[in-house]
Amino acid sequence: AAAVPAAVYMLQDQEAHAAEMERTFIAIKPDGVQRGLISEIVSRFERKGYKLVAIKLIVPSKEFAEKHYHDLKERPFFNGLCDFLSSGPVLAMVWEGEGVIKYGRKLIGATDPQKSEPGTIRGDLAVVVGRNIIHGSDGPETAKDEIALWFEPKELVSYTSNAEKWIYG
Ligand code: ADP
Repeated sequence: AAAVPAAVYMLQDQEAHAAEMERTFIAIKPDGVQRGLISEIVSRFERKGYKLVAIKLIVPSKEFAEKHYHDLKERPFFNGLCDFLSSGPVLAMVWEGEGVIKYGRKLIGATDPQKSEPGTIRGDLAVVVGRNIIHGSDGPETAKDEIALWFEPKELVSYTSNAEKWIYG
């Protein structure tokens, strides 16, 4: 077979990776911020190889928290949850990478920290479900909606990371 220059393979690989890139919404809740866990949590996503494309610290209003958690409005803990989310600064972020929506949830661990495996963020750093320190979108549709709720399009920064070719090959 005719030799195909390595650069062509590399381009095809990069195109394949670009097609599989996805973004997820991750937020460190007021308990995580107050407990000084920002750098610990950010570093877990960063070291994994995901790319940070948006970040801001904001105190959401109660109304905003209710929008964010609208799917849970029939649950008995809904009001307390929205009070809590709006009780202090939240670090809102968008992370990008192959499979980041699903694997981001693995890094986070189960909703109830008592059921989260050691090694996960909630397993290592939280004890009760009402103070589980972090939020992550649970699927592609939610990710899209949550990113749109928390960020203006211009706040999402598209850039090439020099590490990408070492992370994806
Ligand atoms: P997750 O955050 O893992 O996606 P859910 O969407 O089911 O989980 O719930 C959203 C948030 O509501 C949880 O992260 C937790 O802070 C809170 N929550 C869930 N279940 C309870 C509960 N039984 N009591 C108090 N708070 C809860």
